[in-house]
Amino acid sequence: MIKITLPDGAVREYEQGVTAMDVAKSISEGLARKVLAANINGQTWDASRSINADASLQLLTWSDLQGKSTFWHSSAHLMAEAIESMFPGVKFWVGPPLETGFYYDVDLGDHQIVEDDLRKLEVKMAELAKKGENFIRKEISKNDAVKYFSEKGDEYKLDLLSNLQDGEITLYTQGGFTDLCRGPHIPNTGFVKGIKLTSIAGAYWKGDEKNKQLTRIYGVTFPSTKELDEYLILLEEAKKRDHRKLGKLQQFLQKAQMDSGYLPVITPHIGHKDLYVTSGHYEKYGKDSFQPIKTPQEGEEFFLKPMNCPHHCEIYKTSPRSYKDLPLRLAEFGTVYRYEQHGELHGLTRVRGFTQDDAHLFCMPNQVKDEFKKVIDLVLYVFGSLGFENYTAQISLRDKEDRSKYIGTDENWELAENAIIEAAAEKGLKTVVEYGEAAFYGPKLDFMVRDAIGRKWQLGTIQVDYNLPERFDLTYIGEDNAKHRPVMIHRAPFGSMERFIAVLIEHCAGKFPLWLAPTQVKILPISDKFMPYAESVLQQLKKADIRAEIDDRNEKIGKKIRDTELERTPLMVVLGEQETNNGTVAVRRQGKGDLGVKPMAEFIEMVNEEVTSKRTFE
Ligand SMILES: [Zn+2]
Ligand SMILES: [Zn+2]
Repeated sequence: MIKITLPDGAVREYEQGVTAMDVAKSISEGLARKVLAANINGQTWDASRSINADASLQLLTWSDLQGKSTFWHSSAHLMAEAIESMFPGVKFWVGPPLETGFYYDVDLGDHQIVEDDLRKLEVKMAELAKKGENFIRKEISKNDAVKYFSEKGDEYKLDLLSNLQDGEITLYTQGGFTDLCRGPHIPNTGFVKGIKLTSIAGAYWKGDEKNKQLTRIYGVTFPSTKELDEYLILLEEAKKRDHRKLGKLQQFLQKAQMDSGYLPVITPHIGHKDLYVTSGHYEKYGKDSFQPIKTPQEGEEFFLKPMNCPHHCEIYKTSPRSYKDLPLRLAEFGTVYRYEQHGELHGLTRVRGFTQDDAHLFCMPNQVKDEFKKVIDLVLYVFGSLGFENYTAQISLRDKEDRSKYIGTDENWELAENAIIEAAAEKGLKTVVEYGEAAFYGPKLDFMVRDAIGRKWQLGTIQVDYNLPERFDLTYIGEDNAKHRPVMIHRAPFGSMERFIAVLIEHCAGKFPLWLAPTQVKILPISDKFMPYAESVLQQLKKADIRAEIDDRNEKIGKKIRDTELERTPLMVVLGEQETNNGTVAVRRQGKGDLGVKPMAEFIEMVNEEVTSKRTFE
């Protein structure tokens, strides 16, 4: 017998060779139906794998991150099975899970896969999933594995094998498909119910442009079709709405910055090569940037701007600065461009052009702490307004042992490091301190938030910099009438607007707080007869600066309400005979239902109050 310790500390005895699935069944059949994998002594394992010694065990389901990623990785195998049955002779590279969904890189030979193929593959996957085929794990010698994939003619798997040793090689088979994989996988394909293949992209083998371009097929799957439907609606909504919301969010951040003493600036989208040579960006990122734009006459080279900082340094230099001018805070919603390989692009989170909520604070060394405190205030105000309650910060300091690699004086470093630590402590931030994580040019503070379902997102950073003031020879005249170097603080706490919006959408599952919702109120006339009143309600709402739309489709009111619910519009007003006669509206809130009949004036007051207070309802 062996002892299995469960997460609550309970210890149960089982026969040697018991599987996590057996354990789940011994607890309840219902639980067993949900088990996707298991954590055995901290490692993720197949739920069907035998446990031969005492172990701690945590069952993993869809609500665990590891459960989800096992589900998505297994779905990549399922997709591979479907691809192989549709395109015999196809070769496979790797098929990892993503934050949401999965992909597989495949070599389809001469075949060019199109959108229509994705639909056929989805059907095939559903058909294979229905068979509920087990994922069978087999340990295999390197010789046998090489033999198998040589016979199959898959040079990509042979390449993977060349880096593996005997004793660590496993094959997994489900149905007619066998893959080289260390696992784990879900018990069988029957768990996969909602299937969507989302896109096709090119991806160079091993990410190297000199290599052959493979086809990367992206997909996402769910344990029920209902969850898939909800996800697809969210995607549609996100697509429709992100750009309109950008405006509101930007205005909000801008106002918060202005209130904190920032000067808004706008700098060009291109910059002279010399500027980036001075800043050091050319040396560091030059070859990974978009190719330069050359002027026909002088043959000068301009680059799409990779960073706003060099431009802001130039603004600083436009006039002599005195200690009385500091801190100088320059803020810009600056769009910057980075060349990312096609396969690296991902939704709004990995793009080639993005807008940073960027600012650079130029200050004296003894002002660093106050500036940090002000930035933290601003960040916490924004988090609070957007309903992020779970966030942490990481403080990155110098290596304790080796200080030779850092530029700037010891004295200034100490001042800045202590300033960050004290500022964070005084503001009550939950922080972790990491030594050796500072950049060579200064210490920093990074923000991480957890969204509503516990996923961790890295946002942006506040970073002290002694390097650029040096490179750009920035100075100010101190109280002593001598020239001094200012300290520069880079501050883009939300990363990019695009990424922040992606996080926000996923955080609130598309249910934006009222003040951010692109459409705040949907007007639902029960029939055409009430259209004139609906128009008048629309005009009154517009006048009060409330974003509203009429659903004028010829549909039953029940359907209109259902559709509006799915669109995540926060408020709806239903208009019928009684409302028309009395100048009232019957108010409903998304996800909450009926709020009763209200006179127009009262309804407008209620909306405005909620918008002004930026209250997030949940
Ligand atoms: Zn696998
Ligand atoms: Zn910067």
